[in-house]
Amino acid sequence: MRGVDRWHATGSLDPRRKSAADVAWESDTTVVPGVTFRRVATIVGMLRSGERSHPRVAAALLTAIAPALLAVLAPGAPLTTPMATAAPEDQREVQPFAPGTDGLSAPLALAYTLAEDTAHSEGVPLRINSGYRTHAEQQALWEDGIATYGSPEAARRWVLPPEESTHVAGKAIDVGPQEGASWLEARGSRWGLCRTYLNEWWHFEVATVPGTKCPAPRPDASER
Ligand SMILES: [Zn+2]
Repeated sequence: MRGVDRWHATGSLDPRRKSAADVAWESDTTVVPGVTFRRVATIVGMLRSGERSHPRVAAALLTAIAPALLAVLAPGAPLTTPMATAAPEDQREVQPFAPGTDGLSAPLALAYTLAEDTAHSEGVPLRINSGYRTHAEQQALWEDGIATYGSPEAARRWVLPPEESTHVAGKAIDVGPQEGASWLEARGSRWGLCRTYLNEWWHFEVATVPGTKCPAPRPDASER
C-alpha cells in the first residue's frame, strides 16, 4: 500500500497484503526508544528527494539519531530533547521551524517548514492558520460544531472530538491562503505532506514517505 512499497521495493503488489514497512509506518513503530519508524522514514525520504543540503535536514537528522545514540552510549539515561542540549548558547534563539509549528510532531514541523521555505522562495503565499491544538481548544471547537451542524454525526464531517483530532495529536495543519494550499496540494508529497480530506482544502498531514505519491483523500473527517 502507498509509497512505502516503492521506497522499500519489497512490498507485495497485492493491496490486501501489507509489507513490514507498511505495518511499521501505519503503527508508527518505535525503532529504538525515542525514534519512531515514521521519523526515520521521513528523514531518509527527504535525503533521497534532494533535500540533503538543507541545514534543517541536518538538524532533523541530529534530532532523529540523537536519542538512538544516547540509548546506545548511555543506556538508562533520560531521553532529553537533543536539540535543546546540543545547541550552543548563542544559537538558542534561532527559530528552526516555520511560525505555527509549535507543538507539532517533528516530522510534520520539518516537512512543513521545508515546504513553506520553497513556496516563499517561489513567491507563493503560505502560512499555518491552525496547527497543534490543546484538548480544551478542540473540545470548544467540537461543541461549537455540534451547535452549528445540529448533531455530533453532522458535525463530524468538519470537526472531531479531542480524542480523535489529529490536531490535538500534533499531526495536522490547516494552511492558507487558498493559493498556497493549492500549491501545497500539488507539490507537498515531495515532503510527505498530503491533503487528507476532499471537503477541507486547507487540512494537511504527513501521510506518505517524502518523494512518493499521496494516498487518495477521504471524503471528510467522519470517514476514518
Ligand atoms: Zn484541520
